[in-house]
Amino acid sequence: MSARVDVQLDALTGLRASQPGAQPAPCELADAGKTFYLETFGCQMNAHDSEKVAGVLLGRGYRQVETVDAAKLVLYNTCSIREKAAQKIYSRLGAYRKYAGEEKIIGVLGCVAQQEGEEIFERSPWVRLVCGSASYSKLPELIDELESGNRRVMGLDKDTDATFETEITRRDNPFRAYLTIIEGCDKACSYCVVPFTRGPERSRASASVLQEARRLADAGYSEIQLLGQTVNSYADPSAKRLSFAELLVAVAAVPGIRRVRFTTSHPRDFGRDIVEAIDTVPQLCDHVHLPVQSGSTRVLREMLRTYTREQYLEKIAMIRAARRPISVTSDIIVGFPGETDEDVHDTLSLLDAAQYDGVFAFQYSPRPNTTAQHMPDAIPEEEKGRRLALVMDRQREIQRARNEALVGQTFEVLVDGGSRRPGQWSGRSSSNRILNFTSPQPELLGEYVQVRVFSASPNCLIGEQVI
Ligand code: SAM
Ligand code: SF4
Repeated sequence: MSARVDVQLDALTGLRASQPGAQPAPCELADAGKTFYLETFGCQMNAHDSEKVAGVLLGRGYRQVETVDAAKLVLYNTCSIREKAAQKIYSRLGAYRKYAGEEKIIGVLGCVAQQEGEEIFERSPWVRLVCGSASYSKLPELIDELESGNRRVMGLDKDTDATFETEITRRDNPFRAYLTIIEGCDKACSYCVVPFTRGPERSRASASVLQEARRLADAGYSEIQLLGQTVNSYADPSAKRLSFAELLVAVAAVPGIRRVRFTTSHPRDFGRDIVEAIDTVPQLCDHVHLPVQSGSTRVLREMLRTYTREQYLEKIAMIRAARRPISVTSDIIVGFPGETDEDVHDTLSLLDAAQYDGVFAFQYSPRPNTTAQHMPDAIPEEEKGRRLALVMDRQREIQRARNEALVGQTFEVLVDGGSRRPGQWSGRSSSNRILNFTSPQPELLGEYVQVRVFSASPNCLIGEQVI
């Protein structure tokens, strides 16, 4: 059970000039005393939002620091998808009561900010800034207001397009660049808070997406990950009216781009044209994240997921029929209200049928404003834990078998990590598998190399570089 976060934002305060995407060192622009500390919780969209926030602040002469003590501005980019994530913020804020009355500005950004609004000021009066994700481009004005003596400021727009563009986006991952193509969500899954925290669906014009993709390629990025809560529900608002599959093909055609990923896909809007695009365009990664949430049609109906188990498995069959093997991963929720042993059995049998290469499994957590919040027959926490373990155990065995079947194969890997031990490297294949491997080469970060797999575990492949 884990969330998908690829970058440790507060650990990376600058990029080496030799790395793709390197921008002027923050301190070159900085005004002494204007410092910020930024901590991020949650999904890739939040990680990317933090890159936008950091860009806005760096553009205003702020410098990023690594400790709360050293910062004038302390920001938390928050996640409210599950109750525990939201509670964590209040306990973090509790620790900053000691700064009440000091110069330091404490701010809450993101989904908890959007969800709780003024309530945050009431519960933690030392907080001075509350700003939701659609208002990040307004951060400079909000900070101006604070600097000119306003005690508290709030930005809680929900449906602006401004969220796509900030003055500068500071990229934290030197190898993979995130690019938001659709914001918000118009689905209404009964358990999910996202439509309330991120507002209605808004797609970005295809020309603007392509312009940013070209800018990223010029900055040296070769891998782009298109982001959206329901990325494949993309609807080009411009006269070009590109479909999602056409947009994928167009981004993949940008000179210099070697890999294009996208996440998260909603099963209902996942069509054959996407599979055909992956089949024909080698730059499109052979990986689809297609969350099912439950293997029981009865539970899916209660979740308002808009598909049945059978319809979902038809989508999987369509992906498996591709000429190129495509890796599929998923999200599962266990312990939804009223979930029976039979429903759990259906989820376990769906794991067998779908043969995922990875699963993020979560215990259901009731969220404010959602229809499931008031559903009867809540499942006790202990029982949710037992069901989660069942799902994870079954999936671990599936992954072990699937990964063992790859021993002997060779994958192209984009190297994104090294180890303290010389000659040890790691990276990801187009199918998003993690490969840990050995190589005699002294420097491989950012390189594409061929790696032959000689052993496997449920979560990674182990191999050596083919030279
Ligand atoms: N838009 C994506 C989709 O439709 O699959 C999911 C986005 S959501 C940020 C990521 C995952 O969090 C969901 O796929 C779901 O498994 C999980 N999740 C969302 N709400 C939840 C809740 N109330 N309790 C537990 N898990 C939840
Ligand atoms: Fe939440 Fe459902 Fe929208 Fe995904 S599709 S963000 S789970 S409401």
